[in-house]
Amino acid sequence: MELRPEEAEELAALRSHVTTTRRPSSPGLEARMFEPLPCLDHGFVRVVDYMGDDAAVVQAARVSYGTGTRKVSDDRNLIRYLMRHRHTTPFEMCELKLHVKLPIFVARQWIRSRTASVNEYSARYSILDREFYLPRAEDLALQDNQNRQGRGDSLDAEQAAEVLSLLKHDAMHNHAQYERLLEHHGLSRELARMTLPVSWYTQWYWKIDLHNLLHFLSLRMDRHAQYEIRVYADTIGSLVADWVPLVWEAFADYRLGAVTLSRQMMKVVQAMLAGEPPTLENSGLSRREWTELMEALGR
Ligand SMILES: Cc1cc2nc3c(=O)[nH]c(=O)nc-3n(C[C@H](O)[C@H](O)[C@H](O)COP(=O)(O)OP(=O)(O)OC[C@H]3O[C@@H](n4cnc5c(N)ncnc54)[C@H](O)[C@@H]3O)c2cc1C
Repeated sequence: MELRPEEAEELAALRSHVTTTRRPSSPGLEARMFEPLPCLDHGFVRVVDYMGDDAAVVQAARVSYGTGTRKVSDDRNLIRYLMRHRHTTPFEMCELKLHVKLPIFVARQWIRSRTASVNEYSARYSILDREFYLPRAEDLALQDNQNRQGRGDSLDAEQAAEVLSLLKHDAMHNHAQYERLLEHHGLSRELARMTLPVSWYTQWYWKIDLHNLLHFLSLRMDRHAQYEIRVYADTIGSLVADWVPLVWEAFADYRLGAVTLSRQMMKVVQAMLAGEPPTLENSGLSRREWTELMEALGR
């Protein structure tokens, strides 16, 4: 990811400007404000603004005036209780506003999360730069033959080089056509963009509350999510860990690292603990559920 000199200057000015405030602030996130965190080859995530901290979640749950005389361990226990029992509204009291640069195909997956406020860069007004996503050779993989939505084995080096060359050639060709439509034919920007592929980068401001952000992260940090959106979700996860460390710890324990067991799965586990392990056939589970359960139990 490369910044233009004027962009780097603007960011340095933003980061050097410090104000005093009576509002609660999070030292962990303050340290990372405005800094673009690279994602994929040309993308980034950067924090533009935020509201609230761990204490804001606790205050909302208790409807209290401030920190009072409680200990950190009380706050931690309350946050863990709220997360464990899915009390969601206290987490909605915190907000995060991000500036994100991402390929259009990633944006299409991301925008399915409907509970955020979004403002996207307009290719009707502005001419798009020649910036498209080209995967790293090691991220090129064959179609998985089990999971229709996933990737299987990596391509060998020769195939990967051929695929990369094809992708690059197509993108460069499409961009040349885009410029030709704009300059030679004088076509409007809103129409000329039709020739650009979904590997092209777009940008947006994205604002979301912490409850819905955690939902987004649980979906998009999951190993079933596409690698490219996972890169962004993991980066945002690292920001959340610095912003609200107690919430992040509870989220990691009760959501990211947790498993939900169905009634039938519970019966299988109980039978195993009683020393009467059931078989797939008499478990009442489908083969897929059985495999998921055994994986979760480390069998
Ligand atoms: C690995 C993966 C694969 C996917 N594959 C596909 C696919 O092939 N095709 C496809 O179309 N989508 C796909 N999706 C998108 C997926 O189906 C969801 O649309 C997306 O993840 C957003 O989830 P959500 O609705 O829970 O989140 P949000 O939109 O953030 O909503 C959060 C919650 O708010 C509530 N809510 C929000 N809006 C409404 C509403 N209008 N009515 C009622 N309740 C609402 C719901 O409780 C919802 O869970 C995929 C997602 C993932 C993670």
